[in-house]
Amino acid sequence: MSSLEDLPLRDDLRGEKPYGAPQLDVPVQLNTNENPYGPSPELVRALGDAVAAAAGELNRYPDRDAMALRAGLAAYLSAESGVDLDASRVWAANGSNEIILQILQAFGGPGRTALGFEPSYSMHPTITKVSNTRWVNAFRDSDFGLEAERAVTAIAEYRPDVVFLTSPNNPTGTALDHDAIKAVLDVAPGMVVVDEAYGEFRREGTPSALELLAGNPRLIVTRTMSKAFALAGARLGYLAADPAVLEALLLVRMPYHLSTVTQAVARTALSFSGELLGYVGRLREERDSTVAWLRAEGFKVADSDANFVLFGEFPDRDAVWRRMLEAGVLIRVVGPPAWLRVTVGTPEEMAAFRDALKESV
Ligand SMILES: *Cc1c(COP(=O)(O)O)cnc(C)c1O
Repeated sequence: MSSLEDLPLRDDLRGEKPYGAPQLDVPVQLNTNENPYGPSPELVRALGDAVAAAAGELNRYPDRDAMALRAGLAAYLSAESGVDLDASRVWAANGSNEIILQILQAFGGPGRTALGFEPSYSMHPTITKVSNTRWVNAFRDSDFGLEAERAVTAIAEYRPDVVFLTSPNNPTGTALDHDAIKAVLDVAPGMVVVDEAYGEFRREGTPSALELLAGNPRLIVTRTMSKAFALAGARLGYLAADPAVLEALLLVRMPYHLSTVTQAVARTALSFSGELLGYVGRLREERDSTVAWLRAEGFKVADSDANFVLFGEFPDRDAVWRRMLEAGVLIRVVGPPAWLRVTVGTPEEMAAFRDALKESV
């Protein structure tokens, strides 16, 4: 057996660590922002039928451009946001992580720069580096927001080819208002990506960047079926953008990247969107009561427009995390050094979380 050091690995990957959120078999899993509500028996049956039908065609390559799925996603997005979209403006891939990779393959690369404001989604810098693009962190404000003027200054300084804005932001839960996004669009010399993986969980009155697509051909809004649609296992991410952006992505995507099975599963889930998104309301309520409870217990809590809550501050957060795990509750060590993140689960799971936290601090 050889060791990694002996292999002719790319120099810029030496010493890098792979993505590794713990996947542990514990009773209460509140660490990767999954949706706790699994599919109903009706949906399971419909998914089985759709996969069986797809199985009969597996000797053929899938629809390379996933037209039917993209039309379904566009119809869903139009209904959700009130913004008129069709398949020519919606693109899909294996999770929004693959969407982000395709964006960087098309608009980043050697000699180019991507800029983001951390703490934010760790995969933005990771995928940036994997695509051989330089990463610049311009930092969020101390309240985890992003003041338009400071964002503009950072963009003027670094002239990035790609800007990442995450709204609602992971791991803080913070949503951006249109002012900050518009200010970035006004000055950014390249593409502006607004990652709305948690868009459906935003609170009443919080806008979506989809509303800014008209007249902004360099804006890309990414979404995923992993969180609100409770479909993390199926791997389906998507984006909305100007049709010219999709032309660019066609240059870098692998042919037939979305399998026939994935397309069938995602289309079936879309036809059950009423059921799947029915749980979003419950999760938003549970999120708000979790925020209120943590504050009443004296913790610092970031306002959240997502399906998780960032709270602190702990002089030794690793010790708290470990004690919680021993009590059967898995949360996440992520974000600023003294904070922890908990994904919003079922009422029973959140009761277990509250009990475990009280015993662990
Ligand atoms: C979970 C998450 C994603 C989603 O990833 P998938 O590959 O679609 O599962 C994207 N962006 C952010 C900010 C996330 O937290």
